[in-house]
Amino acid sequence: MDITQDVKTDVKTANGMIRPGTFRVVAGPCTVESYDQFYAGAKAVKQAGFEYVRGGAFKPRTSPYSFQGLGEEGLKIMSEISGELGLKVVTEVMDPYDIELVMEHAQIMQIGARNMANFPLLKRVGAAIAGTDHGVLLKRGLAATVEEWILAAEYVTSAGGDNVVLCERGIRTFEPATRFTLDLSAVIVAKRLTDLPVVVDPSHAAGRSDLVIPLSKAAVAAEADGLIVESHHDPQEALCDGEQALPIEALMGLKDILTPFATAMGREVI
Ligand code: PEP
Ligand code: MN
Repeated sequence: MDITQDVKTDVKTANGMIRPGTFRVVAGPCTVESYDQFYAGAKAVKQAGFEYVRGGAFKPRTSPYSFQGLGEEGLKIMSEISGELGLKVVTEVMDPYDIELVMEHAQIMQIGARNMANFPLLKRVGAAIAGTDHGVLLKRGLAATVEEWILAAEYVTSAGGDNVVLCERGIRTFEPATRFTLDLSAVIVAKRLTDLPVVVDPSHAAGRSDLVIPLSKAAVAAEADGLIVESHHDPQEALCDGEQALPIEALMGLKDILTPFATAMGREVI
């Protein structure tokens, strides 16, 4: 792949998730834990001024002994609450057999870092979203090159699914101070190589909540099209990824903190 090729400007919109001149923020808990927990999390996202909520019902946990998510029940909780609050849902699909079910409850299907190279899943998701209003958020694999990540996206687009958003979520390096290393140069390189939008996940990259806001500012400056961040109404009690979750008070200030940076980049935070 030739990284010197011309910058493309024809950014795809993922059916409203990405809009020219804007910087999209998706926030919410790592995992749907219960009706009340997701309600508190989603309400905070709405109050913070955002339109997209995240939450996992099918969780790719490193250990089989960790909480695996509520599955279909979690999807129902998410779609009921997001419908009531007027939010759109981003949630992960791990198994090709669950695609139709996930599409019934969510507008954007996430393919997680651990599944970036699951080619049968990519092809099935691409065919499933073809001609629909659904989008796909494709995380970069923990050890994938930019080229491998873009080719993974092309598995989805070549199966007919145009609405793909790339997501840089940190790669594995020798540095133990953070959970992964956020590779912001990959955001810029990917945007030069494709016409797909690129968003940043500072939460999984950092693994610690105190770095999430500084990395979010950096993502705006690195020409990202948005963020997907984890937030929780009670991070200490979160069943998954509590250390990296923004508490509600921090989420409430996020839009105002990012606005001057976004304005400098000619974008509005939405
Ligand atoms: C997640 O978004 O909760 C998640 C598991 O992300 P990743 O696939 O990037 O680890
Ligand atoms: Mn998580």
